[in-house]
Amino acid sequence: MATSTNKPVIKIGLVGLGKIAVDQHIPAIRANPGFELVAGCSPHARPDGISAYHDMAGMLAAHPEIEALAICTPPQVRHRIAKEALATGRHVFLEKPPATTLGEAEALRDFAAECRVSLLASWHSRFAPAVGATRDWIAQRKLKNIHIVWKENVRQWHPGQAWIFAPGGMGVFDPGINALSILTTIVSDAVIVKQANLHIPVNCDSPIEVQMEMATEQGVPVRAEFDFLQENLQTWSIFAEAEDGGKLALSMGGTILDIDGKRVMEEGEREYPGLYAHFHELISSGKSDADFAPLRIVADAFMLGKRIAAPAYVE
Ligand code: NAP
Repeated sequence: MATSTNKPVIKIGLVGLGKIAVDQHIPAIRANPGFELVAGCSPHARPDGISAYHDMAGMLAAHPEIEALAICTPPQVRHRIAKEALATGRHVFLEKPPATTLGEAEALRDFAAECRVSLLASWHSRFAPAVGATRDWIAQRKLKNIHIVWKENVRQWHPGQAWIFAPGGMGVFDPGINALSILTTIVSDAVIVKQANLHIPVNCDSPIEVQMEMATEQGVPVRAEFDFLQENLQTWSIFAEAEDGGKLALSMGGTILDIDGKRVMEEGEREYPGLYAHFHELISSGKSDADFAPLRIVADAFMLGKRIAAPAYVE
C-alpha cells in the first residue's frame, strides 16, 4: 500500500497505552497518512478505539503484519521490550529517555544495526517550533552563558506514575532531560557536568529537585534548575546571553522565542507530528537516529552529584 503522495504506509503498533500514547502518539499516527495504527498493548490500559492486547507477544501473534513499534512504557522495561521488538525485525521508536542506562541504550543502537532495522531514540522537545531558530541565533554568536529553568508540578503532570521516583525513573530528570535534549542540539560542542545537587525525598530513589552546573567544551557555563514541586503554571525555559549583549529566551518548552526582549515566535505545539514524519523518513531511507547526549548528562549527574535528603514525597 502507498499513500496519495506515494509514500509506503507503515503498519505500526504501540507498546504501553498510558498518558503519552493517548495524548500524543495515537493522534500523531492517525494524522500521518504514512502510518496505519494496527493495535496496541498494555497490561491494563484499554483506550477507546484501539485494538488492545495484554503484551507485545500477544499483539504480534495476532498482527504479524505490524512493521514498526513505538515503545511508550516507563523507561525501566524499555530495553527488554525494544530488544525483543528488534529481534523480530520490527523498526523501533523509543520514547524518551531511550533507556535507564547508557549501556542499555548503546546495546539497543548496536542491535538495531545488526538487525538492519531503523531505531529512533526520540527527543520530542527537539521538534518544538523555536528550537531551530535558537540554534541559528547561537551559531552566529559567541555565547556568555546559558541558564535552564525547567519546573513543573509532578502531581499535575504525572499523576499515579509511581515509576518516576523508582530506580531508573529519573525523578525530575524525566522532564529535565527534555531541556537537556534541546541544550545538546542548540550548542555545537559537548556539554560536561561540573557539579550537581540531587535532592531525593527520603521515601524515593530519584530526585525531586536538581541544581546542576555544566560547561560546554568551549567553556560556556550552563546552569540548570529542575524542580518537580512548582505549583500552577509550569516553567520550561532556556535563556542564553551572548558576549555582544544579545539575549535570547526560549520558553514554554520551545514554543515561544524572545530575542532582545522582543517576541519573534509564538507557535502551537507540534512535536509528535514532526517526530512521526522523522520516523517515517528514517525507515524509508534505512537509517537510524540514536543520539544519547541528553542521557549521558543525566548519567554523569548521577555519578558526580551530591545527594541531599529531601522531605518525603506523598502524591
Ligand atoms: P504512564 O502514563 O505511566 O504510561 C505508561 C504505560 O506503559 C502504562 O499504561 C503501563 O501499563 C504501560 N506499561 C508498563 N509496563 C509495560 C509493559 N511491560 N508492556 C507494555 N506496557 C507497559 O506513563 P507516560 O506518561 O505515558 O510515560 C511513558 C514514557 O513516555 C516515559 O518514558 C515518559 O518519560 C515518556 N513521556 C511522557 C510524557 C508525558 O507528558 N506524560 C511526555 C513525553 C514523554 P498499564 O497502565 O496498562 O498497566
